[in-house]
Amino acid sequence: MKRCIYLAVLLLTASCTARTDHNLNSVLWVQTAAEYPANCHQAYNSALMNIDAAIADSRWTGALEQTNDFSDLPPAVIFDLDETVLDNSAYQAQLVKEGSGFQLSSWDQWVGMRQAGSIAGAVEFINYLQNQGVEVFFITNRECRKRSGSASPCPQEKDTIENLNALGISGIKGSNVLLKNEYADWVSEKQGRRAYIAEKYRILMLFGDDLGDFIPGVQNDIAPGKRREIAETYHANWGTKWFIIPNPMYGSWYKVLKTPPSTYLQGVTAKDSEK
Ligand SMILES: [Mg+2]
Repeated sequence: MKRCIYLAVLLLTASCTARTDHNLNSVLWVQTAAEYPANCHQAYNSALMNIDAAIADSRWTGALEQTNDFSDLPPAVIFDLDETVLDNSAYQAQLVKEGSGFQLSSWDQWVGMRQAGSIAGAVEFINYLQNQGVEVFFITNRECRKRSGSASPCPQEKDTIENLNALGISGIKGSNVLLKNEYADWVSEKQGRRAYIAEKYRILMLFGDDLGDFIPGVQNDIAPGKRREIAETYHANWGTKWFIIPNPMYGSWYKVLKTPPSTYLQGVTAKDSEK
């Protein structure tokens, strides 16, 4: 009997460990490593060095969707929100602590709490843009969905603006926060929303934590190697027009891996001469 109880405890411990370990290192890195905010500052400081030239040069655009005659259009910069401007690592940490996974219901609760922090360097850079008269847009896959107790079809928009206000980003209009499903064709793929902004603005720069914040067609059903090739194609844009914040916790980089992800690990292979 004792042996059975011991085995049961052992199995339970093993299964709990497996679940809670998922994402542990990634969230720890974001929440404790000095290297993480240093990376974020690196991105926003690089942008700050280039932004005045981008504003002054009417031939400058940072969006692949900008195929119109844009030289006379007013300047704008597009940001993703989550893990680009807003730090949701507390939500991710809670999932690790509870041994649970992402669910729209718990995520929506978190959005409603308006307690996301700010990514290092983001608030200062956005304030600089606003002072220079550059229009600031957010294209986010935070999703418009009805919430019990709210009459609004999209309470998430107000939550997000209030959260930004609390962090020191004010003056953001609802029309400048483009959420997923706010309109029927505003889907996870962000290309359509970038094109929508490109019609009326000269898009100077893009900020994101996911390749999909910059390039269309890289979020689903695409091999990791192909994504790397595509990112490499645009190597001149990184750090000049496109600024990416590291996100080891989640993203389309992980979604495109088929299960089990460990099959993608490339270990050491002995050379023929050593065999
Ligand atoms: Mg994001």
